[in-house]
Amino acid sequence: MAVTDISWLRCGIGTLCRRICRIVCHLVCHIGATLCFAAGLVHADVEHEGALPVAEVAPGIFVHSGHQEVSTAHNHGDICNVGFVVGSRCVAVVDTGGSIVIGRRLRAAVKATTALPICYVINTHIHPDHIFGNAAFKEDKPTFVGHVNLAAAMAARGRNYRNALIRDVGADVAESEIIPPTQPVADLYDIDLGDRILKLRAWPTAHTNNDLTIYDEKTGTLWLSDLLMIGHTPVVDGSLTGWLKVIGDVAQEQPERVVPGHGSAANWRQALAAEESYLRVLLNETRAAIKAKKTMQQAIDSVGWQEKDKWLLFEEFHRRNVTASYAELEWED
Ligand SMILES: [Zn+2]
Repeated sequence: MAVTDISWLRCGIGTLCRRICRIVCHLVCHIGATLCFAAGLVHADVEHEGALPVAEVAPGIFVHSGHQEVSTAHNHGDICNVGFVVGSRCVAVVDTGGSIVIGRRLRAAVKATTALPICYVINTHIHPDHIFGNAAFKEDKPTFVGHVNLAAAMAARGRNYRNALIRDVGADVAESEIIPPTQPVADLYDIDLGDRILKLRAWPTAHTNNDLTIYDEKTGTLWLSDLLMIGHTPVVDGSLTGWLKVIGDVAQEQPERVVPGHGSAANWRQALAAEESYLRVLLNETRAAIKAKKTMQQAIDSVGWQEKDKWLLFEEFHRRNVTASYAELEWED
């Protein structure tokens, strides 16, 4: 190597530069990641603690709008509409959210609104996003109210629902519990919150075999829960034909306003018509598929896909709707 050859120096400087670069990069990445992680934690704290935001949709009627998502570690099962009704004597909570975390946040919203005790916790049906916050209200010693079929549905599905919840949402919702109703409703049942009567109605099998609605006489508010799903693909877990019949009955009602189980709409009648239309497509096309001797898989691949862009979470729920419809309609006369 000649004395004048300084390529080693260039090479050395290059290597040094690259090393410094790498160290700086690494530090920047590390600090960046730490900041991101910290920001994530702060975000998670804001997201998962404190009172659920609620809107007073009519005097004394408070509703929290859940996300239009499936339950995840991020949303903690805050995926359906929940709320509460305040009388002059006490409070009725309507559905409790998809985990103990959401139940606690709903309870915090009640406590931030009124000092009155929580005397009733009403579950509108079995689905996990509506019931897994129940345990948050145990200390209030409320009457738990549900459809006469709800306890049996909870006994049949509770364990699997809970396993799926821990799997999908995580160990921090492990205190979520199945709490069956202490007051079953077989037909009609009135609850008196003090200067406020809630008229509960247990429906024949429709969205599930344990759908319960709540009508507040004072404000003309009808809490339909998942008998009306807006945005979210309707979920057939009871009977397709039964649900269509019940929709016919619900359409006869003349409430001032309606609270759906998912989503919201300025015009509830239009939303109910959209839901009915989807269910009719399921009914007609599944019947046609069975008549044409299509297999269940062929029906799943062909029935109702033109509805896809009208609904959220279609991929998650439509196939199981066709499966349920096929099983229900396969042996009809
Ligand atoms: Zn539901």
